Amino acid sequence: MGYPRVRFAPSPTGKLHLGSARTALFNWLFARHNKGKMILRLEDTDALRSSKDFERDITDSLTWMGLNWDEGPDIGGPYAPYRQSARLELYRKAAEGLLSDKKAYRCFCTPEELSERKQKTIAQGGTWRYDRKCLHLEEEGEKRLLEEGKPYAIRFLVPPGEITVKDLLRGDIKVDSKEIDDFIIVRSDGRASFHLAVVVDDISMKISHVIRGDDHLTNSFRHVLLFDALGSPVPQFLHHSLMVGVDGAKLSKRHGATSVSDYREAGYLPSALVNYLALLSWSPGDEREIFTLEELTEEFDVRGISASKAVFDIDKLNWLNRRHIQRLSTKEVVQALLPFLKKEGKTELLSLPEEKLEIAVESVRKNMQTLRDALEPLDIYAKPAGYLSPQAKSELEKTENVSEIMEICVSTLSSESSSDSETAQRIISTLRNKAKERGWSAKKVLWPLRLGMTGETIGPDLVYLIMFWGPKGAAERIKKNLGPFVNLDDKEGPRGNSE
Ligand code: GLU
Repeated sequence: MGYPRVRFAPSPTGKLHLGSARTALFNWLFARHNKGKMILRLEDTDALRSSKDFERDITDSLTWMGLNWDEGPDIGGPYAPYRQSARLELYRKAAEGLLSDKKAYRCFCTPEELSERKQKTIAQGGTWRYDRKCLHLEEEGEKRLLEEGKPYAIRFLVPPGEITVKDLLRGDIKVDSKEIDDFIIVRSDGRASFHLAVVVDDISMKISHVIRGDDHLTNSFRHVLLFDALGSPVPQFLHHSLMVGVDGAKLSKRHGATSVSDYREAGYLPSALVNYLALLSWSPGDEREIFTLEELTEEFDVRGISASKAVFDIDKLNWLNRRHIQRLSTKEVVQALLPFLKKEGKTELLSLPEEKLEIAVESVRKNMQTLRDALEPLDIYAKPAGYLSPQAKSELEKTENVSEIMEICVSTLSSESSSDSETAQRIISTLRNKAKERGWSAKKVLWPLRLGMTGETIGPDLVYLIMFWGPKGAAERIKKNLGPFVNLDDKEGPRGNSE
């Protein structure tokens, strides 16, 4: 057997759903692990529900996740075109071939006639399947209807016998063809049905493995029949389990965000989402849980896929996202945050020199579960000097010896000029010592220091704050922030403040 060729075949009738993204991921990992080809095919024959915006959401989301393709509508390939709306002629030809081989037949029944007969059958306690009324049309009768221009659909003539879907995950799944009615392959408006289009495409694109959700299992029986009827070998199937919410129902809007772009927007890293989706019903066979896409590619083996339902668990995704953020360097976290800062119009932060933004991000990153979690804490670095929140103000008002404390802080800060972390730490320990000398707790000095520098009662470690503004800058901020009720303007540090 040659290298595998797999396809991801979304219908652009909505944003890329997490469940479809998982299908894409399994296909991609299978292709990459086995040095095969990944094909992107857009199933856009439903012109009313398909849209370019959804198409863009799907391709952008795949790209964001790192799932590239070797052939597709945008890049072409040996079996182009890769969008179904441009392949209608192929479907028409295939349907004509099936008609002339007597493997399909025209059906002139109108929807009203069908529904009437269906209701009657059901009323009599039967199960409705198409009753093959039009299979038995005399040649003359059919000719007359065609001449009259009566619209018709084309139905596949399901042959008797057993149909077997060979599934890599579930083994052989069999059904008696009596269970399958003569399904429509071309609608009365001339459009090919999903079944015909998929099979014609899978044949002409030389797809070797069809990996998709188990909601397609019943379709696959029809597809096996079509592959046979069109004289083509049947690809190997793998129907993975669907993704469900904690209540066991198919993952849908009522469970919360369901599209990849929603999660991107909410501040999840692509590596975490990919890691999460892969682990949802696949295991490397040991206890490891943190994987990059490269590591997954290396390890991925379809034998590790489980057939049990994949229950979406946001807590696990959050945990993984936190771990993936921790694995990034601070520079990488800054890069990942930039689009969010831009989107939220955080111009003060965006105009900071790179190394300042890095200090700021470094100071908040340990509490981040999502990228968005950094946005509010970072605001502390965007506040103009002179800012004092009401809480900080009332805390300062309550503080005894506030002027003396602030003088100590300002003079200690002003005596240093370097903004590195060692200096900042030295400043903190000097302040601790000065507190001790006066018989105070360290907090008695360090708490007003925080209030004075930031104008807020909560925020990152003091060391980062001092590094960010620099000792002299921090002293200036204290003077400006506390100006209204602590007169520090004329006070100088012990070694003098020449500025
Ligand atoms: N277009 C189908 C869907 O979005 C996929 C068909 C297939 O994978 O065969 O569900």
